[in-house]
Amino acid sequence: MAKKILIVGGGYAGFYTAWGLEKLLRAQEAEITIVDPLPYMAYLPFLPEVASGSIEPRHAVVARRRHLRRTQNIAGKVMGISHASKTATIVPNAGEPFDFSYDHIVVTTGSVSRTFPIPGIADRAIGMKTIEEAVGVRDRLVGNFERAVSLPAGSPERARLLTVTVVGGGFAGIETISELRSFATALLRRYPEITFDETKFHLVEAMGRIMPEVSQKTADWVVRDQSRRGVEIHLDTQLSSATGGKIELSTGEQYESDLIVWTAGVMPRPFLRDTDLPIGPRGHVIGSPTLKITTEAGEALEGAWTAGDTSQVPDISSTPGPGGFCVPNAQHAVRQGRLLAKNIAAELRGEGVREYNHKNAGAVAGLGLNTGVFQSGKFAMKGYFAWLAHRFYHGLAIPTWERKWRVFGGWVGHFFLSRDIVNIEAVETPRAIFEEFASRPK
Ligand SMILES: Cc1cc2nc3c(=O)[nH]c(=O)nc-3n(C[C@H](O)[C@H](O)[C@H](O)COP(=O)(O)OP(=O)(O)OC[C@H]3O[C@@H](n4cnc5c(N)ncnc54)[C@H](O)[C@@H]3O)c2cc1C
Repeated sequence: MAKKILIVGGGYAGFYTAWGLEKLLRAQEAEITIVDPLPYMAYLPFLPEVASGSIEPRHAVVARRRHLRRTQNIAGKVMGISHASKTATIVPNAGEPFDFSYDHIVVTTGSVSRTFPIPGIADRAIGMKTIEEAVGVRDRLVGNFERAVSLPAGSPERARLLTVTVVGGGFAGIETISELRSFATALLRRYPEITFDETKFHLVEAMGRIMPEVSQKTADWVVRDQSRRGVEIHLDTQLSSATGGKIELSTGEQYESDLIVWTAGVMPRPFLRDTDLPIGPRGHVIGSPTLKITTEAGEALEGAWTAGDTSQVPDISSTPGPGGFCVPNAQHAVRQGRLLAKNIAAELRGEGVREYNHKNAGAVAGLGLNTGVFQSGKFAMKGYFAWLAHRFYHGLAIPTWERKWRVFGGWVGHFFLSRDIVNIEAVETPRAIFEEFASRPK
């Protein structure tokens, strides 16, 4: 009898697990099912470049139905797991909830933005965790330029529309603010009515430094480089309020900002606490180095596996992350997904499983067109060649050749034609024009 393997979440870790299982197991050995509300795996490192018009949104996601041919896809969310009875409750995107019985479960539900109860944030800010958010940010920025030109220069409303705030100075935050700054600078050529000095970009970081993944020296270089390009970096500063778009900082500084992007941390999805899976103090599913889910005492649960951002997997490499666990990044999610597939296949065949041991390969970030940073151990590269390294690394890292071609093709197109500044904000209300002129029964 084929074993039923249920993968909950088809992002990085889930996609790579299913891809690996399809290669390793015959159809008679396993039936693979992925549940995810989205039909694609999103390549999140590309989000800042999607927001800045350097990558087409659809090129930054991978359609599971095209590339996972033997995996059954269920469009929906798992909202309950009873591992004691090996049942997951699935709430499909359409239709009634139902129970799904499995032999093995893989929990790879990733993470969501972690916010604090700061006034105005829940109502006014947007995250940078989904392709939809990145598209929304891009359209909003261009739309704001369009709106600003019809307002008198020097008016408070025009200043508000041209002010962007990003909260959080980790990789995602720095890449986001620098890509947006670079995009806005490019936009100024098409909007001669707006001056460079009118566009304000603020990065707010509570700690005394940015990008903990790189050395202090490299981080300081990024601060200097971005300040020179027109980003104001507020270190040792907290956002106190964003009510109505009015930003108040812990330093006492105040200004109005229309676009507020929150990138200050991630957390596992809260529904996991309502399952019978062992959960760590910060809401992660407890995993072992073999990627099996374990109790707090370290006892492995039979047929339960986890990987990626949602998991708390001990980092047994020579360069462990903070707290001794693998940090939430794509490097780990991809490699854990690959190993997870091998370990499940090995377990089904009665063979031994391996431990996850990955030494950090370094970090690379794009900081707007033609500049970036790369750091591996003590070696650091800054500026144009680091940016090239960023593009080559990520262009080759997005899964499947079909997607690699689209991404590289887009970059080549932009090299000759410059990036696309088209704003299709109206896509948020696609029926508006039809409704306006549609005949209705009298
Ligand atoms: C802007 C940005 C830039 C980044 N850049 C880098 C980088 O340069 N390098 C790097 O290493 N990392 C980077 N990361 C981090 C990296 O993208 C994540 O660590 C990685 O995506 C984690 O993979 P995952 O599989 O755990 O989660 P995800 O890829 O987020 O996948 C989770 C999936 O689970 C699904 N899901 C959620 N809940 C349910 C449910 N209840 N039922 C079913 N399905 C569910 C979701 O729809 C999603 O498809 C970046 C992240 C961001 C946001």
